[in-house]
Amino acid sequence: MKNYLEIGNQFITMIGKENVLLKEPMCSHTSFKVGGPADILVTPESYEDVQNIIKYCINYNIPYIIIGNGSNLLVKDGGIRGVVVKLTKLNKIEIEGEKLIAQSGVLVSDVSQAALNATLTGFEFACGIPGCVGGAVAMNAGAYISDVSNVIQSAVVIDKEGNLKNLSKDELELGYRNSAVLKYGYTVVEATFKLVTGDYDTIKNKIEDLQKRRKEKQPLEYPSAGSTFKRPEGYFAGKLIEDCNLKGSKVGDAEVSVKHSGFIINKGNATAKEILSLISLVQKTVYEEFGVELHPEVRIIGEEKN
Ligand SMILES: Cc1cc2nc3c(=O)[nH]c(=O)nc-3n(C[C@H](O)[C@H](O)[C@H](O)COP(=O)(O)OP(=O)(O)OC[C@H]3O[C@@H](n4cnc5c(N)ncnc54)[C@H](O)[C@@H]3O)c2cc1C
Repeated sequence: MKNYLEIGNQFITMIGKENVLLKEPMCSHTSFKVGGPADILVTPESYEDVQNIIKYCINYNIPYIIIGNGSNLLVKDGGIRGVVVKLTKLNKIEIEGEKLIAQSGVLVSDVSQAALNATLTGFEFACGIPGCVGGAVAMNAGAYISDVSNVIQSAVVIDKEGNLKNLSKDELELGYRNSAVLKYGYTVVEATFKLVTGDYDTIKNKIEDLQKRRKEKQPLEYPSAGSTFKRPEGYFAGKLIEDCNLKGSKVGDAEVSVKHSGFIINKGNATAKEILSLISLVQKTVYEEFGVELHPEVRIIGEEKN
């Protein structure tokens, strides 16, 4: 494999110096504010640039990972070997009638706002999700009894050979916090949502109500990656954790939020190691008390620190 300086120089030629960072701390790119350095972090500005980077990585056998806003990521303290492709510079939105077409780096909260401005209903559920469109499609993000699968029509992705493909909703195989994107390692560059014409005030009130509920219930004042665990069949992770008296449990600066026990928060200088120890403690305790296995919703990536 080529060394990261060589690869970085190649990327600078391909997409410009302003879009290539070497030894970039991932704590600056995650909502948990945790994570060691990525060898290379690139921020391509066009689909073609994303394709060329992916093709280069495939040709030279360089590991790569796609990220959006980093709001569902726990990056380990040793960082990431290889290339992080951050897609936040793909950030255009277009509206054609009841269709909203967003590039993968658009924040889903901005999609909600654009839909409101065009008096389109259906996307209100996502107004408080702090991720980008690509991450929301990959995770089939959802809240308040809706999710991406209810509004998406199709997505443009790049496959593992570097080819652009248009996938229908069915081909995206959207399930609970899962999708063909995660399963087959696709890169989402664009998504088309099919919304419905609604009433401006009704949409606005719904958005404001959901934002208020989030602020009341979630520890938004601390860094986190949202719900740490997936919802186990027939249970709520937060309730199980609370019933095990784990609210407020700490490992270092990682804490089970007192406000919402489904969230692990970073109270200051938590390391990924501390968060992972707390995740294990919660999983073990909940299993011993209730026989229920909790699986992380948060995507855990990178390498441990030596
Ligand atoms: C305070 C808070 C509240 C939250 N509330 C919710 C909620 O209500 N509902 C919910 O579902 N989630 C919630 N989340 C989690 C998170 O915001 C969502 O999962 C979001 O959709 C992730 O988007 P992202 O751009 O941040 O993705 P990232 O965190 O950057 O990545 C997440 C995963 O998606 C992959 N990915 C990202 N972009 C792409 C792309 N373009 N192509 C292919 N794969 C990609 C990454 O490789 C990774 O596996 C919350 C998080 C926080 C911090």
